[in-house]
Amino acid sequence: MVSIELITVGDELLIGQVVDTNSAWIGRELGRIGAQVDRIVSVHDAAEDIREAVRTALGRADVVVMTGGLGPTQDDITKTTLADLFSGGRMRRDEAVFEHVRRITAERGIVFNELNRAQALVPDGCTVLPNRVGTAPGMLFVRSDETTNGREKLLFSLPGVPFEMKELLAEQVIPAIRSRFALRSVVHRTMMTFGLAESAMAERIAPWEEALPEWLHLAYLPNARGIRLRLSAYDVEPAAANAEIDRQFAKLNEYVGPYLLGYEPASVESAVATILRQKQQTLAVAESCTGGSISARITASAGAAEYYMGGVTSYSNEAKVRLLGVSAADIERHGAVSEPVARQMAEGALTRFGTDYAIATTGVAGPGGGTPEKPVGTVWMALAWRTEQGRIETLARLMRFGELREQNIERAATHALNMLRLHLLGVSEAFQQTGML
Ligand code: ATP
Repeated sequence: MVSIELITVGDELLIGQVVDTNSAWIGRELGRIGAQVDRIVSVHDAAEDIREAVRTALGRADVVVMTGGLGPTQDDITKTTLADLFSGGRMRRDEAVFEHVRRITAERGIVFNELNRAQALVPDGCTVLPNRVGTAPGMLFVRSDETTNGREKLLFSLPGVPFEMKELLAEQVIPAIRSRFALRSVVHRTMMTFGLAESAMAERIAPWEEALPEWLHLAYLPNARGIRLRLSAYDVEPAAANAEIDRQFAKLNEYVGPYLLGYEPASVESAVATILRQKQQTLAVAESCTGGSISARITASAGAAEYYMGGVTSYSNEAKVRLLGVSAADIERHGAVSEPVARQMAEGALTRFGTDYAIATTGVAGPGGGTPEKPVGTVWMALAWRTEQGRIETLARLMRFGELREQNIERAATHALNMLRLHLLGVSEAFQQTGML
């Protein structure tokens, strides 16, 4: 089995200024070809730290993939550090890289200077991995010495810029790993659910989980948008494993019922979109505390215009009255975060946009604005729809989330969309009242 470690280089990763998406990408892409990443390490732009990380990783793993620190500036020291480690500091000028950098700088109207000239210097003995989309080349070092316990090991050094890294990973790293190592097949499949807390879900599906074949591993991955249930199988024949996973997910469906959204990357909004498309029905939204995020989530998918007519972000009381026809007297009497206001917002959106459905949110996202009766996290949401007779009906629900603004907004948006989803599925009001959360 090939063992792989990743090293990402850059102070920006360690101070939290940039999220290490390179490692996530590499882990996912290598996982797809059956090459599992065993460890990820991030280090400063400091020679000693890079040296130490490289030595340790090469001592353990068959393949080390590094990203970052290859640029032309003073703070990018990965290349010189690797030269110190592997070629006694000797560098050579690579003519192909030199020409490439000269051409790219000319094309982009950049003056070719000493720093660009230095980009064509590579450690002696490494194989240059041409970077078609940027100036810093990738490098491959093949090592077989006492630090690698006599085994042949590969060290790839890639640029830190994500799109350059991706290009080199696909074009150079993956083919090299495939050609040198026997890879195992790995199957990951993920079901998306929403509406149950993790513990409740675990209890509900326990009989199914206990009956899973030993070679299938289940992982729960919860967040504000639901719980992902992932089944993984390692060292398997993919067609047979996929068939068994299909069978297991079909059984799991019976336990999960209306909490099922679909398979990754399904979401509450994609589930709503699928049903509205099928029924050829339309939707509008009226958002206060969610500030447009429901609308943004719906329109993130191409083709939303088929069923989504539009939304009103009525953040102020005045906007609720003027744009949605909410009664100013009701706002005065019950407050903006109240059942009548949520219902009237949904009705207002329904009639103004002329849609089949409308959803509305009004709540206290926090951190300020809470009162003893309506603490931070209180959200009223409503769903309005037209009956076949053309009457307007509404359903309203009070939710109490937590203290954190971002979470409150995300959860309110998801639950409001889920109210519509359950209604579209014909899930009874009783289930919705008792079965949620
Ligand atoms: P360049 O030749 O373009 O300078 P480089 O190899 O020197 O590439 P860095 O200077 O380390 O790359 O990083 C360039 C940019 O790439 C950073 O500002 C950062 O935004 C992004 N980046 C670097 N490492 C990562 C990482 N692990 N995950 C996500 N983004 C990263």
